[in-house]
Amino acid sequence: ETPLNPEYTFANFIQGRSNQMAYASAFGASEQPGVLYNPLLIYGGVGLGKTHLMQAIANKMLERNPNARIKYVTSETFVNDYVNSIRRGSQEQFRNEYRNLDALLVDDIQFFASKDETQLEFFNTFNALHDNNKQIVLTADQNPKQIPNLTERLVSRFVWGVPVEITSPGTETRIAILQSKAEEEHMEVPNEVLELIASKVNTNVRELEGALMRVRVFADLNHQPMTPQIAAEALQGMGFADNTPALTIDLIQKEVAQFFNINQSDILGKKRSKNIVVPRQIAMFLSRELTDNSLPKIGSEFGGKDHTTVMHAIEKIEANLKTDEKLNRDLQQLRQRMQ
Ligand code: ADP
Ligand code: MG
Repeated sequence: ETPLNPEYTFANFIQGRSNQMAYASAFGASEQPGVLYNPLLIYGGVGLGKTHLMQAIANKMLERNPNARIKYVTSETFVNDYVNSIRRGSQEQFRNEYRNLDALLVDDIQFFASKDETQLEFFNTFNALHDNNKQIVLTADQNPKQIPNLTERLVSRFVWGVPVEITSPGTETRIAILQSKAEEEHMEVPNEVLELIASKVNTNVRELEGALMRVRVFADLNHQPMTPQIAAEALQGMGFADNTPALTIDLIQKEVAQFFNINQSDILGKKRSKNIVVPRQIAMFLSRELTDNSLPKIGSEFGGKDHTTVMHAIEKIEANLKTDEKLNRDLQQLRQRMQ
């Protein structure tokens, strides 16, 4: 038997579009066990809150009635218990344990697949509980209809109550989950950092929470406050970096040179012919727009030019953009190439 985690409550479960139905059904089941949704089956990918909601039902029922007989197991535990009962000749005890309950919660029923005898036993367990209006809660990693090697009659029982799907949370929900987690942990985290983590980690809630903790540890180890820069570095270490390498002045020069069919050395040089000067100005303009470099820094990377030269180039491009259609198109294309 697996103990319940008292931290899995409805109160600390953040609701969003992706889990609203699951939350409402679970809450309803906890309020009126065996009446509203029986069985309640929640399905969806890993780390999206199925176990949390399932245990929230148990915790809520126990809060209301500390004597409620509730059993929470994973489907593997059910299989093991059943196999052991056969081995020890203690099937009667097994049945007592699994049928004299107010609620039975079985997590991750996909592991019943291909275990035919266990499926038959669970079918009987299910019926015994259901006949007595005892609450059954199940989770699965996908719609039970899609789980291979699950007997038809078991599937038909599972979908008696309407199965509810839980999907990946959207950005706003991810930010809300991070805010709530930070608060729980008494962490002071700037909103920009939470937004950065939410934007990069869009897989599931478990990874989202893990990322927040990693960012904190990383900042601590480096004796730094939690800034977006530190967070980005920490996430990079976790493999959550965006794969596009950071844009550098050098890369911009190369792209622009290639685009206009000239050499990068021309851009760095001092030639005054128009077919060189315009690309050079464009490269300076884009370096200012697409990187964080200062004007003096840009100047030095363009063959040691003065920052006033860079400023002049930027002003010239800005002025021409107002009338020059081709320049607008060229810049648009260049930006796209460098995204
Ligand atoms: P699953 O069982 O679907 O794989 P879990 O229930 O184990 O996922 O959730 C993974 C982690 O994410 C847990 O720590 C859980 O508390 C947390 N979590 C998931 N969804 C939410 C949510 N909506 N609000 C707060 N925490 C959540
Ligand atoms: Mg789970």
